[in-house]
Amino acid sequence: MTQTEDTIVALATPSGAGAIGVIRLSGPDAITIANSVFKGKDLTKQATHTLHYGSIIDGELILDEVVISLFVGPKSYTRENVIEISCHGSNYIIESIIKLLIKKGARAAKAGEFTLRAFLNGQLDLSQAEAVADLIASNSKASQQIALQQLRGGFSNQLAQLREQLVQFASLIELELDFAEEDVEFANRDQLKQLIHTITRIIGSLIQSFELGNAIKNGVNTVIAGRPNAGKSTLLNALLNEERAIVSHIAGTTRDTIEEVLNIQGINFRLIDTAGIREATDTIEQIGVQRTMEKISQSALLIYVFDAAQITIEELNNDLESLQTPGVTMLVVANKADLLSNEQLLNLPHTDKAIIISAKEKQHIDELKSKIYHAAIKEQLSGHETLVTNIRHLEALQKTEESLTRVLDGMDTVTSDFLSMDIKQALHYLGEITGAVTTDDLLENIFSKFCIGK
Ligand code: GDP
Repeated sequence: MTQTEDTIVALATPSGAGAIGVIRLSGPDAITIANSVFKGKDLTKQATHTLHYGSIIDGELILDEVVISLFVGPKSYTRENVIEISCHGSNYIIESIIKLLIKKGARAAKAGEFTLRAFLNGQLDLSQAEAVADLIASNSKASQQIALQQLRGGFSNQLAQLREQLVQFASLIELELDFAEEDVEFANRDQLKQLIHTITRIIGSLIQSFELGNAIKNGVNTVIAGRPNAGKSTLLNALLNEERAIVSHIAGTTRDTIEEVLNIQGINFRLIDTAGIREATDTIEQIGVQRTMEKISQSALLIYVFDAAQITIEELNNDLESLQTPGVTMLVVANKADLLSNEQLLNLPHTDKAIIISAKEKQHIDELKSKIYHAAIKEQLSGHETLVTNIRHLEALQKTEESLTRVLDGMDTVTSDFLSMDIKQALHYLGEITGAVTTDDLLENIFSKFCIGK
């Protein structure tokens, strides 16, 4: 079914010269508009899912020889009539054809408008439509997998179930409103409370999963910090397996931060090597130290490196205490193991939690990588079946949570009409994610289950 009246056109392949360019038209007039500039078969008489060779003509002028793919709605991506013109990939040809199609009645499509139409026409729900964008943008196996799961409806299914339960709840309260004078309670308040608690817990877990989902999608911000000369730059090089950061003997030379991306098992870790932490005396260093603390607070993971041959236990304890940041997982790395005897290694402070390496000799670097992956991803993954990766979903979930909290708070005190309002609001925010229309759902549920002929 076509809900939109106009026909849109845009280049579907990247702009710039290529072997071919694909121009897409979607809308009720897609086929007739294409037919009006096509010299070949009469496109209006062709079956869906067919290919047609011919020329695009502007009056007498032949613009290009092309192949047209024809999809008759609703059997298309947007469920509208869709034409795809494969032409030669010159910017001039592409622009001329698009201009011509616009002259013949099409309109230039806005960003994402084809997928928007797919959603409006019921081909995809909102979170699935968003997954299409994520899939196109995915740059690692992990982000591609999450987008694909969302596209297949994993995320939407879970939310749809939650909404279903809420709708039932809302219907009962709505019924009470209809029988207001009789002072009846259809909705058992204890059961309702229990239901809301369950839903809030699931929503809370989805909200929590955002941090991890976002990390998998966009990369985990990771800071390497430690005292000057602890071996931070050397470790960064060892992890990246290249000579990128400047290594030097003079304390405090890594003055600016360096950012590199390390891929471990499909996850991008954005590594930030920072200026050393110590009581800085000169101004540049001070800025560096301040920046380190700032960077740590913006990160998910902190790799704290210390020089196992030099540091005293007081210094170590001091560092560990001052670097501890809520919400940031810390890995403690004892470096320069090559300078120590086995006995010295055994007596290292904090050996129980420190990962012992030699950055310079590249010893135990793979073990460290595996610990990085486990600390940032594996340990956090447990308990999350679905990951929220989209900020819009996160906001809608947070608003749902707020509304549900209001429902719980008001359950024993406010009247049914206020309760009903808060529940409707929660339904509305949940529906915002999948794009469902809440009021229709609600009404249908009431009428189909209770047959009130009002
Ligand atoms: P940063 O200031 O923390 O970035 O430290 P650097 O990476 O610049 O290293 C300081 C010095 O320690 C350099 O001379 C490195 O070669 C040396 N170094 C780093 N890691 C090791 C290691 O594992 N063993 C030994 N023996 N020296 C190291």
